[in-house]
Amino acid sequence: MDRKEYYRQWRAKHPGRNAESCRQWKQNNPDYFAEGRKEYSRKWRLEHPGYYAEVLRRWTLANPGKHYQQVKAWIKANPEKYKAHQHVQRALKRGDITRLPCETCGEIKTHAHHSDYAKPLEVTWLCATCHRRQHPRL
Ligand SMILES: [Zn+2]
Ligand SMILES: [Zn+2]
Repeated sequence: MDRKEYYRQWRAKHPGRNAESCRQWKQNNPDYFAEGRKEYSRKWRLEHPGYYAEVLRRWTLANPGKHYQQVKAWIKANPEKYKAHQHVQRALKRGDITRLPCETCGEIKTHAHHSDYAKPLEVTWLCATCHRRQHPRL
């Protein structure tokens, strides 16, 4: 059975799929979301070599220059943020500042959060989750 057909049948069997049924499914399949998940996706990638590359290639073909345009539009809308990020990237490369674990939870992967974009090197290091909390609008 190919994947399209599989999804079609799955949707037919699960009408009204919503947050609640999703939550229940997770409860009934804890392995998929815990340790097993990594293993599962690793296997899946092995069985479908080049799948993600192919998806990305198709998306790029279907949306020529779209990502670039999105980035450019963002820079135009947020010039001070963009400049501040550039400052941080350069300072990181030079070793003027060091990336630190999340100040709130200790996660290693962090973003530089600016409380004041006029002071580009005064940053707080926050993980994606804690960072989002600092920007409720995002
Ligand atoms: Zn955090
Ligand atoms: Zn921030």
